[in-house]
Amino acid sequence: MPTPLHQRLRATHQRLDDAALKAERNPVSIALMLATKTQTSGTIRAAVLAHRDLVAAGEVTPRALHIGENRVQELSAKAPDLQDLHVTAHLIGPLQSNKINHTLRALALHKDGSIDTVDTTELATRLDARWDGKSPLPVMIQVNTSGETTKSGTAPANAFALAQHIDQLPNLALRGFMTIARRSTDPDTARNCFTTLARVREKVHTAGNGEGLILSMGMSNDLESAVACGADIVRIGTSVFGERQTLA
Ligand SMILES: *Cc1c(COP(=O)(O)O)cnc(C)c1O
Repeated sequence: MPTPLHQRLRATHQRLDDAALKAERNPVSIALMLATKTQTSGTIRAAVLAHRDLVAAGEVTPRALHIGENRVQELSAKAPDLQDLHVTAHLIGPLQSNKINHTLRALALHKDGSIDTVDTTELATRLDARWDGKSPLPVMIQVNTSGETTKSGTAPANAFALAQHIDQLPNLALRGFMTIARRSTDPDTARNCFTTLARVREKVHTAGNGEGLILSMGMSNDLESAVACGADIVRIGTSVFGERQTLA
């Protein structure tokens, strides 16, 4: 039986497909990360299974599905309930040094768990020292492309040096860059942020400090602009789960 969750998921996939076709990109190459803050393990499980059902039925594009948590506490609490789903999980909120061990333990329960909010050389160095997994820990650099002081992330001008630093660390594997655009009713505002992130990647690729690096950008209100600017993975909460009941 299609539930409201199935319907919202289907509509979200459709938006991604439409945006991809408009940008002349392959729809299946754009992955979907569910932004799961404030959602219960039960709701997250239902969303992952609904996605798999829809893919199996041929009703949506078979794009990769990931999950992203903002708060270490929520990540830790939900990981044991969700580990049997073998879904790739990301930390997409700020990470304080005193929470590193907690975070790494929770991420280890998921498939290819990654930390997408590395924004200082100190944090990268600490993660490198603490990680003892079999393969290097996947990380992304968060870039503050909007210049808002309330947002985390390294300045675009510092991102290149941070990528070089991570490149030297044996226990970290740089996967790409993530950003949160400035919220605005004018699509050009978000576009400027996304273009800035794409330029950061370009510079790192050109210098040979990593290859196949991905861009994590775009949320429910600006995913079309993000896809137009080259997003490889979009992070979606509201458009899949409905309005959040509580603030994260
Ligand atoms: C909440 C959140 C999202 C998703 O936001 P929606 O507008 O609900 O789609 C994406 N990225 C981050 C970092 C978030 O905190």
